[in-house]
Amino acid sequence: MNKKQKKALGRIIISSILVVALTFIKPTGLLGLALYLIPYLIVGYETLRKAIKGIMNRQPLDECLLMSIATIGAFLMAILKTNDFVEGVAVMLFYQVGEFFESYAVGKSRRNISELMDIRPDYANLENDGKITAVDPDEVAIGSIIVVNPGEKVPIDGVIIEGESAIDTAALTGESVPRTVRVSDEIYSGSINLSGIIKIRTTKEFGESTASRILDLVENASSRKSKSEDFIAKFARIYTPAVVYSAIALAIVPPAISYLLKGNSEILTWCYRALTFLVISCPCALVISIPLSFFAGLGGASKEGVLIKGSNYLEALAKTDIVVFDKTGTLTKGVFAVTKIKSEHLSPQELLKYAAIAESASSHPIAKSLKEAYGKQIDTSLLGGLEERAGKGIVAMVDNREVAVGNAKLLDSLDIAYERCDEAGTLIYLAIDRKYEGYIVISDIIKDSSKKAIAKLKDNGVRKCIMLTGDNEAVAKNVADELRLDGYYAELLPADKVDRLEEIIAKKNDNNTLAFVGDGMNDAPVLARADIGIAMGAIGSDAAIEAADVVLMDDDPMKISRAIAIARKCLLIVYENIIFAIGVKLLCLLLGALGIANMWTAIFADVGVMIIAVLNAIRALNTKRL
Ligand code: ADP
Ligand code: MG
Repeated sequence: MNKKQKKALGRIIISSILVVALTFIKPTGLLGLALYLIPYLIVGYETLRKAIKGIMNRQPLDECLLMSIATIGAFLMAILKTNDFVEGVAVMLFYQVGEFFESYAVGKSRRNISELMDIRPDYANLENDGKITAVDPDEVAIGSIIVVNPGEKVPIDGVIIEGESAIDTAALTGESVPRTVRVSDEIYSGSINLSGIIKIRTTKEFGESTASRILDLVENASSRKSKSEDFIAKFARIYTPAVVYSAIALAIVPPAISYLLKGNSEILTWCYRALTFLVISCPCALVISIPLSFFAGLGGASKEGVLIKGSNYLEALAKTDIVVFDKTGTLTKGVFAVTKIKSEHLSPQELLKYAAIAESASSHPIAKSLKEAYGKQIDTSLLGGLEERAGKGIVAMVDNREVAVGNAKLLDSLDIAYERCDEAGTLIYLAIDRKYEGYIVISDIIKDSSKKAIAKLKDNGVRKCIMLTGDNEAVAKNVADELRLDGYYAELLPADKVDRLEEIIAKKNDNNTLAFVGDGMNDAPVLARADIGIAMGAIGSDAAIEAADVVLMDDDPMKISRAIAIARKCLLIVYENIIFAIGVKLLCLLLGALGIANMWTAIFADVGVMIIAVLNAIRALNTKRL
């Protein structure tokens, strides 16, 4: 609870005690008015002030004004007719209880999110002329040298230039096993250095570093409104004035008719009904609980390592009907083991060396695996210019010779003659100076949880799971059969993937969502084209984080169905709240207009509904049993 909330609670308590005391004394007349005004002003002063300010600034009618009119009206009624001063105070008091409750709930879910996102670094140890000073990470220029001690958070993205350590990246990747990092490894801000002292040369500014980007993403998420929120905001803008005018009409028209017919206007009775009507109709529950539900849903998701960039995506995610997957790195581990090397002239080790040098600058899973398989320190001074051709491979100058490493498409496009072979696995052909030199067979392993993840998606009502891949037909069919996918398309270039995706989108129902899941390796165009782009384990790939609508911190495919389940639960809560709040309000409005509901019913309709709706909204934070 913060200071403001404590004050609000204090005022509520003092005011309640006074009201209870006064109900025993039962003062009447002007004395009653004076005594009851004390708790009223203690608890309602802020609201009255805001209402007056709103009128002076010519703001549209809001709930502060609604409450002020209703409570002042209730006091007037008490003097003129009912002699019941409790009502006015009670309305204001309960309204404040509701407000307090709401701010507490919002504060709690906010804190929850930043707590679980405990990745914001406070300082960086900047090394300058051998001296180390702790500075604000914001002040560290690109290319500076920083030192990270054991137990400290890595403040800025960079490359290790000295030292070796175990790094905990759980907050970024969801991976709980520490990773060992050495000189020349990349390291991301937000991870925690566990064991050794390391020196890092920064490659980014603080604001562009991983931790800052993730926090930005989470903090801005609630500003992208969903359709339901837009609807409620528009609804309130029309609804509130409509209610105020209806209340005025209710206070004037029936008395006028009654006066004409019976000669007796009963104006006070109708004024009382109009006030009751005002209190009942306050749209608080909707206005507050709908955004709060989405907020809690986004928070609950980020707690699970599912970063959703906005309520609109949460809403779309809940309607996911078709999930399209990228293969490498998404359904498979993207860690290839070399199973065979066939060389025409060179030794296998030499062939691998050319491949590893050519791939040394690439971060493609295949490149990583070839470097790993080569195993030795790569002499990057041999590497000249290079060009990475997405979905095909790499053409690079190695030791002044043109080396092409990639699939059949790459060699075809370079007009190089080669022997097409049909080994099981992903084939990486190699040519030097346009002459075919041999191939390397590598094979990827399906992730442990992929099969379960697909089955779970189907259980949760996803109609189709389809795979797109740049890999060859044999590998694609193998994976698709193993995972029981509904379909696959193989040997696609990144641009072909977009075309296939558009074909699938064209065939589907407009109301439903197509989600594309990729690992962010050259699939940014597809991520952007899908109704929802989900990037998994994308930490470190800026393009993917940029292009995706949902970022999964780790690369476990089970997270996809969890993300959908969280979204569904959140949407269900939103609908429950809308129906419940509008339903109860309509009923009470009707009863109020007929004179059956009194001010106390109104208070329940307003504050009771709001508290129930807020409690319901908070359920969206709890994602444990999904
Ligand atoms: P996927 O669609 O399975 O994620 P990609 O589109 O990343 O695969 O790559 C498709 C194919 O292009 C790979 O199977 C490989 O044959 C080739 N390829 C892509 N990048 C490289 C690379 N850096 N080195 C060698 N081959 C590559
Ligand atoms: Mg890929």
